[in-house]
Amino acid sequence: MSLLQRRKPFQKLKLSDQILADLHQWIARENLQPGDRLPNEKQLMQHYGCAKGTIREALKALEIQGFIKMQTGPNGGAEIQPVSLDRVLEQLRAFVHFQTITFQHIYDLRADLEVRLADNVVGRISEEQFGRLQANIEECDKLQKSGDYAMGRRVEIGFHDILTEACDNPILTVTCRFLNDLLRDLVSMRTNNYAEHRNFGQHNIDSHRTLLKLLRDGDRQKVLAAMKEHMCEVEAYMRRADDQLGSQPRRLRRG
Ligand SMILES: [Zn+2]
Repeated sequence: MSLLQRRKPFQKLKLSDQILADLHQWIARENLQPGDRLPNEKQLMQHYGCAKGTIREALKALEIQGFIKMQTGPNGGAEIQPVSLDRVLEQLRAFVHFQTITFQHIYDLRADLEVRLADNVVGRISEEQFGRLQANIEECDKLQKSGDYAMGRRVEIGFHDILTEACDNPILTVTCRFLNDLLRDLVSMRTNNYAEHRNFGQHNIDSHRTLLKLLRDGDRQKVLAAMKEHMCEVEAYMRRADDQLGSQPRRLRRG
């Protein structure tokens, strides 16, 4: 292969992408907070020495990433806003959109991370969150009794979503929520005819009741043991679901 046929060692970034990267650094360096403003378009054009279209392109990218919202009117401009967890999760799910995912892929991580999450949230759960955990169990119980097992599968994952709200480690939060979202997608598309729905649903309800009681008691060791056992059981159910539903994993559908 001649030198000219080889790929260039350095890819040149578009000017608007360079400005985007610089704005990211600037927001971090200046410790800008939600509600703070970026300089206006004219100031940015002068600072970067480029055309209005290039600045607009960089700002549009920053807006799509969720870092800023554009305000209109005489005092308009780019205002910093917190990036929402939902937006981040949407982008992560987009990444796996064309990958093949099995329950086992998810449980390779989830079984450990949910135990870590449980460890993190002992003593941190608010009364309001306890109320929603309880309501989630009751809703699952109702679905279980009515025989709507497929819906029960999706709703019970919400129990674990609520736990992430009490977590003070943002990386653990986003990872657990991402795995929950993947699980919900996979459950929706793969388990409609799942033979063990009934037993699985009852296991989840019983486990969640136990977990809720232990979390209320604040008994860390018992919470960790209960979550570990719950994850072991759930992983076994899901492994059998992978087997029963065919070894051919299907691509995730975003929904
Ligand atoms: Zn559970």
